[in-house]
Amino acid sequence: MRDNIYVTSPLLPPLEEFTPYLEEIWQSKHLTNSGPFHQQLEEALAKYLGVPYLSLFSNGTIALLTALQALRIKGEVITTPYSFVATAHTILWNSLKPVFVDIDPVTCNMDPRKIEAAITPETTAILPVHCYGIPCNTDEIQHIAEMYDLRVIYDAAHAFGVKQKGDSILNAGDLSVLSFHATKVFNTIEGGAIVSRDLRMKQRIDHLKNFGFVNETTVVATGINGKMNEVQAAFGLLQLKHVDDALTKRRRIYESYQSKLQQIHGVRLLEKSPDIEWNYAYAALFVGPEFGCSRDELYEAMKQENIFTRRYFYPLISEFPMYRGLPSAQPDVLPIATNISSSVLCLPIYPTLTEDDIDRVVGVILRMSVNIAENTSVTAA
Ligand SMILES: *Cc1c(COP(=O)(O)O)cnc(C)c1O
Repeated sequence: MRDNIYVTSPLLPPLEEFTPYLEEIWQSKHLTNSGPFHQQLEEALAKYLGVPYLSLFSNGTIALLTALQALRIKGEVITTPYSFVATAHTILWNSLKPVFVDIDPVTCNMDPRKIEAAITPETTAILPVHCYGIPCNTDEIQHIAEMYDLRVIYDAAHAFGVKQKGDSILNAGDLSVLSFHATKVFNTIEGGAIVSRDLRMKQRIDHLKNFGFVNETTVVATGINGKMNEVQAAFGLLQLKHVDDALTKRRRIYESYQSKLQQIHGVRLLEKSPDIEWNYAYAALFVGPEFGCSRDELYEAMKQENIFTRRYFYPLISEFPMYRGLPSAQPDVLPIATNISSSVLCLPIYPTLTEDDIDRVVGVILRMSVNIAENTSVTAA
């Protein structure tokens, strides 16, 4: 049997490049609490990403929780059902009420045309996701937010390095939240960040992630422990040296999938518009009704070949038990998300994926695409 191919494989720098950083940490004994690597990484990332201020976190979920706290969000928060479950969990964890809005079938992002109908007197914020790193319609969302005086927090966990018309997508909204989890395009093993527009907000976030301390004896807010440690920060600084190379490789892999899949009837790959500098974070394939088998049959056929694809995002967040009783969680008000969720299959994509690996993946899709057609012609004959 051939080697396993997983949907992703973490970006890891050569080990010998990491040891000098560790030696420095051992020498200084500065392990956490805004040490030198933490400060360097905040500055380096803000510069690399093209954003004014950035606060590092221990992970993206704590960063999302803190973003909602930083803006003092109350009542109801409009969000998308088509995301990783952490997006909505952070709303519930803050004792707020999530309200789901359906998505656009092309971008897989919250459909701005459906937001207004979901607004009530209790609504205070919108929490959209740049799903797969494809930017939301940020202009439309901003327009609605201004009209109704709502805050906007982007879950930008997939959107590291993404630009639109030359500007970082992380500059949209009031705050943007990144994840640096091992499975993401850029990782610090676990980690995350909040991007903010002004220094006052960054300082409030920095207090919140450190128990609310502003100095040795003053606590100004009900903070949490969301600090990134020095080993993670050092790892991030080293990763940053390799991330451009990783992004280039991801683009090549995606383009290879595109050219090899375009002849196959009944499947389409996620598309981006030409004004977007994308990070090729996910290779989302949508299996249409004209394809030779169902999405789940394709998923199982891949497994038989030791290829472990993932159905991101199936089930929808709105289908989990803590959400499914909400009026906005019913499948009949989320027809597009429900449909996309049952047709998506994320193919393997990571910098070290080889052309042979891609051919193995495409080979299964090709074989399954003709399954039914062949059977039918055999029956007809
Ligand atoms: C990964 C992810 C998160 C959570 O980030 P962690 O760093 O794993 O806590 C949140 N939202 C989305 C959309 C994600 O993909």
